[in-house]
Amino acid sequence: MKIEHLLKKITRLQMESADGWAMAAETAGPDYQGGSEENEEQIEALASECFDAYEVALNALEEGDLEAAIEALEDARSLEAEGGDASAAIEALEALEAYKSGGCHVGCDCGRWSGEPCNWSGPKAETVVVEFMPEEFRATHAAAGNAGDYPRNGAERIRVSAECADFMAEHDPEWVTRVD
Ligand SMILES: [Zn+2]
Repeated sequence: MKIEHLLKKITRLQMESADGWAMAAETAGPDYQGGSEENEEQIEALASECFDAYEVALNALEEGDLEAAIEALEDARSLEAEGGDASAAIEALEALEAYKSGGCHVGCDCGRWSGEPCNWSGPKAETVVVEFMPEEFRATHAAAGNAGDYPRNGAERIRVSAECADFMAEHDPEWVTRVD
């Protein structure tokens, strides 16, 4: 799932949640048996707190902060539970978890080339596969005047961020090639 789809889905659930709260507020009001204006106001206060929690979650998602988004939706879930129906927040949390584990974000393996892993993490679309020759095979290949072909020549293929691929190609042009 793409982030835009996730944002759309959570926005839809925010509206669904607001509809649920509007109904809950009405039935807590003086027109209904056992209801009162005070109860109605209480529900409306929870409703607006809950709406804001969704808003916080959406903003966090736009900034790529999944943990903060989950935290805000957990708040929305406990508020909705108080109102009697947490189904919208539960669905939003499930969608977020699915997005999180869906492999939409991958790491960068440039550490296998540099010996020092980098912290990059992002969508797979922003990564490329590069092939490089590990240090231990370079002397032999240089002496033979021919590096042979992957994978029998000992070369490794790794998925790295586009920036790291550029960095590798720039600093190690002889032994690094882009595969895709
Ligand atoms: Zn990297």
